[in-house]
Amino acid sequence: MVTPRLVLVLGDQLSAGLPALASADKARDIVVMAEVTDETGYVPHHPKKIALVLSAMRHFAAGLENDGWTVAYSRLDGDGNSGSIPGELLRRAEEYGASDVMTTRPGEWRLIAALDELPLTVTTLADDRFIASLQEFDDWAEGRRELRMEYFYREMRRKTGMMMEDGAPAGGKWNYDHDNRKPAQPDMLRSAPMQFTPDAITEEVLTLVERCFGNNFGTLRPFHLAVTRGQALRALDHFVKHMLEGFGDYQDAMLTGDPFLNHSLLSPYLNLGLLGPLEVCQRVEQAWKDGHAPINAAEGYIRQIIGWREYARGIYFREGPDYTARNILRHDRKLPWMYWGGETKMACMADTIGQTRDEGYAHHIQRLMITGNFALLAGIAPAEVHEWYLSVYVDAYEWVEAPNVIGMSQWADGGIIASKPYVSSGNYINKMSDYCKGCAYSVKDKTGDGSCPFNTLYWHFLDRHRARFEGNHRMGMIFRTWDKMDADRRAEVLETADAFLARMDAGQVV
Ligand SMILES: Cc1cc2nc3c(=O)[nH]c(=O)nc-3n(C[C@H](O)[C@H](O)[C@H](O)COP(=O)(O)OP(=O)(O)OC[C@H]3O[C@@H](n4cnc5c(N)ncnc54)[C@H](O)[C@@H]3O)c2cc1C
Ligand code: SF4
Repeated sequence: MVTPRLVLVLGDQLSAGLPALASADKARDIVVMAEVTDETGYVPHHPKKIALVLSAMRHFAAGLENDGWTVAYSRLDGDGNSGSIPGELLRRAEEYGASDVMTTRPGEWRLIAALDELPLTVTTLADDRFIASLQEFDDWAEGRRELRMEYFYREMRRKTGMMMEDGAPAGGKWNYDHDNRKPAQPDMLRSAPMQFTPDAITEEVLTLVERCFGNNFGTLRPFHLAVTRGQALRALDHFVKHMLEGFGDYQDAMLTGDPFLNHSLLSPYLNLGLLGPLEVCQRVEQAWKDGHAPINAAEGYIRQIIGWREYARGIYFREGPDYTARNILRHDRKLPWMYWGGETKMACMADTIGQTRDEGYAHHIQRLMITGNFALLAGIAPAEVHEWYLSVYVDAYEWVEAPNVIGMSQWADGGIIASKPYVSSGNYINKMSDYCKGCAYSVKDKTGDGSCPFNTLYWHFLDRHRARFEGNHRMGMIFRTWDKMDADRRAEVLETADAFLARMDAGQVV
């Protein structure tokens, strides 16, 4: 008898064409899939995220078995489960007399290191479920003074031919972001992402998650996420038909009690491997070609995927395992309790964190300009911010989360991703949302206990990091505005910010 090889399929590798599966032999090899406590517990994941991954894994394993594969599947509460991926591979190696393992490169340095240390012969294949290979990204990055996403994105447009006409960008511009900054109005008729009723497999997982992770931050039920490729394709179809049209216009808008607006909620399915980035973009491009979506919506959407998503992955692997520990601004404040559901008087923070708790979801501008902005202005340790984002979002995997948090949001990488920090006062939030209308703080005020904390912390941040940022040509104007303010007024603004931070650090509701 030929010795079987083990084919590892990780929880975010649920794609039929996965390299490790494509190069395996159905008649000979054993697919290893494992639910393990190391993965469910290395950060306190949102219960919806754990349920999504476990249910999608179980459905995927059932599909492989239907397709004739032998799957050695370890359930989280199964007898003999060692609790780690390497442990399960060793257990299966012994069980099947195997010594060779085929894997697709994991999306996290932590797991790459763990597989490297296995006392088995491990063949790791490149993950080809992306538009750019890591080598292509490095070739693009090599020798550049700055790694700006916009230029990488143009390369990806040329490579894929997506929205290109005769070698030039469709419509004559690469980027239509200028049109994508409209505030949104409440609209009862606005479509929401498609919802799915849990089947028996999902129900079983929900009961398990309830039992094992009931104390984690986040609401488990109702659970309506897609857990199979078929469902994810229906969610894509629904988005393209009913939501894409307004995606561009309202991309940056925020509305109380409307967690999704025109956002697609497809990132969890893309990141699990249930959908491929190219097929999603092709659907969007086709809708634009057919006249069902305006150019700013289609271009804006495609840019997020072939641009930002690919770029984030390239940066994560190029920068190396220490990326998540970077802290160039030396921020060291503890993450305040409000991030884990504690009370806050800031309406914008309460709404964003509330929907994060309920849905495991917040859209990009909420992540960047509300919770991220606040953490950066308040000087919270980036490692704590990173752990929070990695825990609470159903789409959070380190390869995509860390560049967004450490780089884009917290500027902890010293500007590799963002040429200047994404900070704003309450003004921006007031322009792009309806939050301030219902807030205990006044967005018009910059001093006094009732003033918007984003206003005072904004100047506090700039003042304490002046030496680093005043030479930045995109920030000179801001410092000139600060300098024009009366000295007493500036002192009062800083004192108000200090008093706010002191109250927050003392555990008071702020
Ligand atoms: C602080 C912070 C943390 C983030 N953490 C994550 C994360 O853990 N996982 C994650 O997938 N995205 C993350 N993002 C990016 C973005 O917020 C989410 O991809 C998006 O909100 C997912 O919701 P959606 O599918 O409705 O997106 P849509 O607004 O509908 O966008 C379409 C798709 O574009 C992709 N995309 C959009 N923006 C980005 C981006 N900046 N980086 C990578 N892909 C992008 C996603 O795949 C998304 O599904 C983060 C952004 C910030 C600012
Ligand atoms: S006033 Fe300030 S704290 Fe309140 S919602 Fe507006 S931006 Fe947020």
